[in-house]
Amino acid sequence: MTKQDLILLALNPSPILDLMERALYAAGFGVAIAHDRSGLDRSTQEAIPALLIIAEKFDGQDGFSVSSEILERFPTLPIILYADTDTTGLAKSVIKMGLSGYLYPPLKMSDIVDEVQRSLTRARKLGDWLRREVKRTTSSLAEKADFSEAERLKLEAVIANIQDGVIVMDKDKNIILVNYAVNDIFNLDGNEIVGRALAEVIKNADLTALLVRANEGPLKYHEINFDDGRVFNAQYTPIPQIGAAVTMQDISYLKELDRLKSDFIHTVSHDLRSPLTAILGYTELIERTGPLNPNQQEFLRRLQGSIHHITTLVNDLLDLGRLEAGFDTRREIIRLENILKYSLDMFESQVKKKNIKLVVNVVENLKTLRANPIRIRQMLDNLIGNAIKYTSAGGAVYVSVSMQGDQVILKVEDTGPGIPSEEQGRVFEKFYRATNALEGVEGSGLGLAIVKSIVDSHQGRVWVESTLGKGSSFIVLLPTQE
Ligand code: ATP
Ligand code: MG
Repeated sequence: MTKQDLILLALNPSPILDLMERALYAAGFGVAIAHDRSGLDRSTQEAIPALLIIAEKFDGQDGFSVSSEILERFPTLPIILYADTDTTGLAKSVIKMGLSGYLYPPLKMSDIVDEVQRSLTRARKLGDWLRREVKRTTSSLAEKADFSEAERLKLEAVIANIQDGVIVMDKDKNIILVNYAVNDIFNLDGNEIVGRALAEVIKNADLTALLVRANEGPLKYHEINFDDGRVFNAQYTPIPQIGAAVTMQDISYLKELDRLKSDFIHTVSHDLRSPLTAILGYTELIERTGPLNPNQQEFLRRLQGSIHHITTLVNDLLDLGRLEAGFDTRREIIRLENILKYSLDMFESQVKKKNIKLVVNVVENLKTLRANPIRIRQMLDNLIGNAIKYTSAGGAVYVSVSMQGDQVILKVEDTGPGIPSEEQGRVFEKFYRATNALEGVEGSGLGLAIVKSIVDSHQGRVWVESTLGKGSSFIVLLPTQE
């Protein structure tokens, strides 16, 4: 025995107690005696006995219930119960309570020592096993912790060094993390910004607008512009249980390409216009120079048709160029319903020819707009023209104008083929034509791009709602004069 095991005896003074004390002492154990319940509690707590022997009746209390209370607190302490008489119930109760063993008279010294040794050996085995298990679990936990710490560091390094800007914030929009790219983009010193409100640390109107717009729904494209010409595309992504992340990519070079392309198109269309006017002029002159045979007349008409077509295209492109460059600054007080009338008049013959049911609904007392009447007419012509063009004969077109607060709402609805949902976001792009509308219907895909530019330059919003096979609604919101 390397260290003396201490046996705690909780028995009322009696010859048996003396016998036990002597027997255990002789066998080389340390022995302590608890004289009452409070002494027992103190000793189990402080002396850390290797085993407890408790009488069936101790200090006026039931040995079983005392044992059960002690086991609650020290589940691995082996306890031997001493009973005055052996009854059939005794063994059962001992087993039920989870005690180590029991003793009853007549007792020899060796009976006591044997029972104690047996209980200790079993307890030791149990203890060893427990310790092994604990060690095994802790080391595997430690391994896991090491592993996840390594993973965390790896991830942190990736986020920190990634070229895209990454900002992670909590639910109250306080900064949790920003990477090096963000420091560069916004010229931050990178210190002492964690925990502070994002809007307070980074004062950028476009970023603030992104945070506001993000509350309204998911957002894929949002441009963040800088005075020095840099442009970033930003996404806002909610992260469950954390908050949200803003990621940003530098798209300055794409913007520059886009500008070059627009400049190029603008120059080319501009330079094409004069020769086109000349060609058209000469084709008209040919007819006056002498009689033409029917074939020649037919060819000339086709020639003129094509020149008109190209001229429209060139004019559209020039318009777009001007609108995008922000040259559309003419503003007058106008009434949308008046301009709408002219536009509808223009389409009257087409509507009749295609036998389309046209329903127009304009609420009374519409507020006036501050707008460019020519552009507004162009916008109406394109939207209504599309609705009539893409709706098959016998279909219907509904045009309505209403008010909501300080906004005029124009809605052009049709019973046409509709636009596939994945393409609805693209129909406002230059030259984009939906895949389902190409057969037989002519167009260059510029009309809606012009509409979008006009609406943008009037601080309005335009979008499409459409169900394939059922029809489309184009909705325009324009702010009223006030
Ligand atoms: P254009 O430059 O002559 O207007 P376009 O009509 O093809 O040519 P947009 O007006 O820009 O071009 O429209 C883009 C595309 O959107 C169309 O090609 C068509 O696929 C789809 N589209 C537009 N309006 C409707 C509509 N009312 N119903 C169904 N599809 C439509
Ligand atoms: Mg069109």
